[in-house]
Amino acid sequence: MVRTRFAPSPTGFLHVGGLRTALYAYLYAKKADGKFILRIEDTDLERTVPGAVELIYRTLNETGLKYDEGPDVGGDFGPYVQTQRKEIYAEYARKLIDSGDAYYCFCDKERLERIHNDGATKYDKHCLKMSREEAEKRIAAGEKYVIRQNIPEEGTTVYTDLVFGEISVDCSDLEDNILIKSDGYPTYNFANVIDDHLMGITHVIRGIEYLSSTPKYNLLYDALGWERPQYIHLQPIMRDAHQKLSKRHGDANYEDFIAKGYLKDAIVNYIALLGWSPKDNREKLSLAEMEQLFSLDGVSKSASIFDEAKMRWLNSQYIKELDGAEFHKRALPFYRQYDYLKGLDLEYLSSLLHSRTEIFTDVGKLTAFIASFDDFDTGLFVNAKWKTDAALAKKMLPDLIEVAEKEWDGLHDALNAYAERVGCKKGQALWIFRIALTNAASTPGGATEMANLFGKTESLRRLRYAYDKVK
Ligand code: GLU
Repeated sequence: MVRTRFAPSPTGFLHVGGLRTALYAYLYAKKADGKFILRIEDTDLERTVPGAVELIYRTLNETGLKYDEGPDVGGDFGPYVQTQRKEIYAEYARKLIDSGDAYYCFCDKERLERIHNDGATKYDKHCLKMSREEAEKRIAAGEKYVIRQNIPEEGTTVYTDLVFGEISVDCSDLEDNILIKSDGYPTYNFANVIDDHLMGITHVIRGIEYLSSTPKYNLLYDALGWERPQYIHLQPIMRDAHQKLSKRHGDANYEDFIAKGYLKDAIVNYIALLGWSPKDNREKLSLAEMEQLFSLDGVSKSASIFDEAKMRWLNSQYIKELDGAEFHKRALPFYRQYDYLKGLDLEYLSSLLHSRTEIFTDVGKLTAFIASFDDFDTGLFVNAKWKTDAALAKKMLPDLIEVAEKEWDGLHDALNAYAERVGCKKGQALWIFRIALTNAASTPGGATEMANLFGKTESLRRLRYAYDKVK
């Protein structure tokens, strides 16, 4: 049975690249009716950020990437948190020492720096020469040590990545990496092998930064007599042609997108397309559809560029599909960020904004005119198409105010009737009315919709204020 895993280090927010790895691992397992496992890789204690693990659980659950096994849901292959597996790594490290595939190393920082300064490009296997007895004596005496992998000095190691094909590396290019650190915790280089094997992982899906160290991991599988898993390495997501999208630049993570008003389904959909496309090149896909369609032939061998404009467009497609009540419910927390919306009929506002909103923070831009009314700009009355200007506004506004006052209930028809009565174009009357109400050339709705939004009292206040300005 196919078993894949997502193995994040809890170092902060889940950024786009991490979420995509999780998604592909999830999809690959689901497509094959297999299992998707969550493992927390927290052995780099200094980088662990409090709360990051909970954020990982929450994000995966929210986005629908349900894991079959993991720290908080259990499973037969736990514990699923690496700091709780210290003894397991120690046991396998001893096995590797017994077989000569690993050795104790006592070299201190000064010596390592010295050999580097003398031109060494990798560790020189100095401690490999030491007898086991001597090493154990020094350990018993309390000396600090690490355990290193003993990589053959000659030969090549080869494997087939399911995306990139054959990867071949000369052993002489590989360093005797540390497997167990002086604090007793394993490095990633060791723990990933032990855990992927013991957790029965059949397909390892991860970032391309591990492509070239995978031969080292394979030597460990071989040394322990274990079958190697299949590997699927993923090209990075780029910010532009030159720079990777990275957490360090504060680049986008899931929480930021939610805060900007993206819908989770749209985020997942867009992220899926950053390095994969279905055969029919469709772009709008639900998670359930992707579970059916995902396949490695669609996984890209080249990097993808994160294009927020496209993600925005995709989000707008999802927003269009919401029904009015659902749109309103999701828009409410964003309305609350703007004091000037207090007191307005927000449900009505939602009906106006729904078709104009691509992401929910757009509601700020779309309604900003409401707050800047008092700074009235009479220049806006000038409209070349309708041949209107401030002088015409001055002439018409008293009548328009009267129409609003007396015929509020049938305002739309009343404004039309007014235009007919005085023999002007309807567009002229509506333009002047709407500018006087809103102080904005572009508004999310026409003259009567804006009047409905403000209500009679506020609309009259605004019309009179505008008239005062133009008088
Ligand atoms: N903990 C590693 C990371 O966050 C995981 C790499 C892997 O999936 O093997 O990059």
